[in-house]
Amino acid sequence: MNRTEPHLPWMLDTKDVGRRPGSMAEVERDLPAPADFGTDVISVPEGDPMPLQARLESVVEGVLVTGTVNATAVGACVRCLDPVSLDIETRFQELFAYADRAAHHREVGARDEESEEHVIVDGLIDLEPVLRDAVVPALPFQPVCREDCLGLCAQCGVRMEDDPGHEHVVIDPRWSALAALASEASTTDDGD
Ligand SMILES: [Zn+2]
Ligand SMILES: [Zn+2]
Repeated sequence: MNRTEPHLPWMLDTKDVGRRPGSMAEVERDLPAPADFGTDVISVPEGDPMPLQARLESVVEGVLVTGTVNATAVGACVRCLDPVSLDIETRFQELFAYADRAAHHREVGARDEESEEHVIVDGLIDLEPVLRDAVVPALPFQPVCREDCLGLCAQCGVRMEDDPGHEHVVIDPRWSALAALASEASTTDDGD
């Protein structure tokens, strides 16, 4: 049991679909969210279920996987720091190439070197990097609890929602300068 077990739920077995082009298989399962599935501000808590529905289709080069994954990402509102919970549904499609086919592509200098090539290893498809690439960039850069979240008061930090329109009496800058002088004088005075 020394294998990296946590990864196993994310693996699809190509034996289910076979190598005859045109054959298909359906997969439905809950994937446990891996660590760091998200960004600094919003992510899917590790171990939370991510329902997956996928269709595997055998093609000449490998197996084409098309599907949908759902997840609930949590984070904090960038304006008021309240918790944010966001249901996301991401569709994806990716070709996983047979190792021999992938090697052939490299030999003939397949043009799209930029695009990452996914290879079937030991008959298994690793969905983790594919779903990470599909889900994480779709997460909001600056999550908010509501589009019209009023945020916090810049002066006192209270949630503007709790006390909308509250104001702070702004001291005339000349008086505040005097007040600063006075407090400075009092603190320097109490020496010996
Ligand atoms: Zn907010
Ligand atoms: Zn305030």
